[in-house]
Amino acid sequence: MEVPLLDLKAQYATIKDEILAAVSEVLESQRCIGGPKVAELEEKIAQISDCKFAVGVSSGTDAILNSLMSLDIGAGDEVITTPFTFFATAGCITRVGAKPIFVDIDPKTYNINPTLIESAVTDKTRAIMPVHLFGQMADMDPIMKVADKYNLTVIEDAAQSITSTYKGRKAGSIGTVGCFSFFPSKNLGGIGDGGMIVTNDEQLYNRLVIMRDHGSKPKYHYKYIGGNFRLDPIQAAALLVKLPHLNKWTEARRRNAAYYDKKFAGTAVQTPYINADCVSIYNQYVIRVPRRHEMVTHLQENNIGCEIYYPVPLHLQNCFSDLGYKQGDLPESEKAAKEVLALPVFPELTDEMKDYVIETILSFLA
Ligand SMILES: *Cc1c(COP(=O)(O)O)cnc(C)c1O
Repeated sequence: MEVPLLDLKAQYATIKDEILAAVSEVLESQRCIGGPKVAELEEKIAQISDCKFAVGVSSGTDAILNSLMSLDIGAGDEVITTPFTFFATAGCITRVGAKPIFVDIDPKTYNINPTLIESAVTDKTRAIMPVHLFGQMADMDPIMKVADKYNLTVIEDAAQSITSTYKGRKAGSIGTVGCFSFFPSKNLGGIGDGGMIVTNDEQLYNRLVIMRDHGSKPKYHYKYIGGNFRLDPIQAAALLVKLPHLNKWTEARRRNAAYYDKKFAGTAVQTPYINADCVSIYNQYVIRVPRRHEMVTHLQENNIGCEIYYPVPLHLQNCFSDLGYKQGDLPESEKAAKEVLALPVFPELTDEMKDYVIETILSFLA
């Protein structure tokens, strides 16, 4: 049997005709930039995120970049974030000229450890950027408490966590802004790159819209230096086809996760820990296993897809070496990077496939 980490073709087969019709509609209209599909998607994403406003952008990365630029975060500023995340989180902070300050993670949830944030605050700190990793939101109450105390902006990197909740509150709705990605491997994935920013702050919303289009308002008059961060209407059209299926797909991921949890209980496999305050959307199902390197080889030999998110924490990446971090500075992130392993959890997995993954892992450990 073959079990890929993700099977986009399986999902596409169920909505192919609708996607083709939606893409064709955009092509026939020749509204190739902006237009009604983008506006409709913005309205719907704002709604499902319990936010007043949403701004479609070119990617999850550009959602973060535009947020930082629109908040005037730049040279001389510090932004507190986690090193155990996708590169874009800290890449964007550096691109605007600010400095990422890495704080270690909670080893159970892999999200930023809120108890370590306050001691990282300096008079240069402008923002905290928690990442809701693998589909589970960070512990937001203590994060917001520090932010309020020091008057900091909170940018939620919710790229992996659309519709995920913390104490019943939606990802992206607690901080100043929330950033989503429609990269094809995310729970709501486009047919290419795309992203969205959500906020309840009307003034910030207006700025985000201007910055998305080079900072131009009125046209050809530039009060700010923005960029081309626009969401492609073909992506918006495809995402509007997928959106009504999102909850069903997320439920299937959650059922797959529960199935694994049950079968791995009492074994050497450390299953994901979900905070009682959170509902995870399981963008990834990440375990810790002994002898991970050999386990990866074993899974590959048995045609099972797996991936390491993330093998090198950001504070130890070459491109951030001038920040001065060294091995041992953020031990929980470094330990997680050596032990984690993501297994297939996509909605279309069958019980047979899950059983094969479980048997293959347990037989190796036996
Ligand atoms: C995917 C992802 C991003 C970037 O999104 P893109 O759409 O690929 O640019 C940023 N942060 C995190 C945590 C992500 O998982």
